[in-house]
Amino acid sequence: MGWQLSPHIADILKKGAAFEGIRRDEALALLALPLHGRETYALMQTADQMSRERFANKGENHFHIGVNVAPCPLNCSFCSLTVKAGIFTQSMEFSEEQLLSWARQAGASGADALNLMTTGNFPFERLLEIGRLLGRSVATPLVANTRDIDHKEGEALLAAGFVGAYHAVRLGEGRDTPFKPERRIQTIRVFKEVGLQWMNCVEPVGPEHRHEEIVDLMLLARTHGATYSGIMRRINFPGSPMSSHGMISELEMARMVAVSRLVMGDGPRAHCTHEPHSASLIAGANLFFPEVGASPRDGQPDTGKGRGQDFMRCHALQREMGWNPDLPSNCFAPGRQAGVK
Ligand code: SF4
Repeated sequence: MGWQLSPHIADILKKGAAFEGIRRDEALALLALPLHGRETYALMQTADQMSRERFANKGENHFHIGVNVAPCPLNCSFCSLTVKAGIFTQSMEFSEEQLLSWARQAGASGADALNLMTTGNFPFERLLEIGRLLGRSVATPLVANTRDIDHKEGEALLAAGFVGAYHAVRLGEGRDTPFKPERRIQTIRVFKEVGLQWMNCVEPVGPEHRHEEIVDLMLLARTHGATYSGIMRRINFPGSPMSSHGMISELEMARMVAVSRLVMGDGPRAHCTHEPHSASLIAGANLFFPEVGASPRDGQPDTGKGRGQDFMRCHALQREMGWNPDLPSNCFAPGRQAGVK
């Protein structure tokens, strides 16, 4: 028994597979495909083939270290590290010994990057000090994940040893957060202008988000040349104000991972998903974030003892799905500039 894709979907997949980067209306058509339909599996296969070819079967692992726990007064609705969540009532920073120990263990486990995350109210100067400290001790590339910055602060991150920065215009930015999307985009421009690589994810996706707003953030990542930009779903921590919306499934996330892979075209050096799971590894994703320290998705102060998954688990998932975590990273190789064809 034979079957054929609809000509319209077949054309979009062909264009995607050629690394041309698909249009907004084309991405919307893919996101509307029935979840269990054959065309969705054809979409995921197309994205998978693109990533295996471009990323040469490398399974990337960028280690998230949440540097501090705090009741953050900025109160983003999806975050557990807020005053209003009431989970963490005291501020604390993990010790330098602990941060060094995590960084060294990550180096020994083959981490491809260290992502240092702080809460939105963490002192910027202290992040620079931690960057300098870790930079003296480990060779793993450092990526900052912190508040909005200006050019002077971007140059300071570079001088402190960071090579890139994770920053997202979150879904619901300005509605579920107190930040203006324009200010977040301004920070992304700063990274590019000072020479920091920009890392991104379309996040935190929940069932309440319209396809249009999801696709617009995928297109933003392509326009501004993200080094990687996949999909992270929202995790409803216990007592989350977003709980009434529910959560999307890993399979729904995999469909979005595939659409974002086709949108990104020839630009990215990796394609991420979070939290680590198998389905997206056959839908274009090759990058996981093992985690320790603070996490906006967890009620534990050290997510390594909570939801966070470790290198062993991430590597095992990747190997099971035919990705090799032992190969060198594609993300920081000199040469091709992400986002530039
Ligand atoms: S997401 Fe960041 S800025 Fe927002 S509440 Fe959490 S720590 Fe603060």
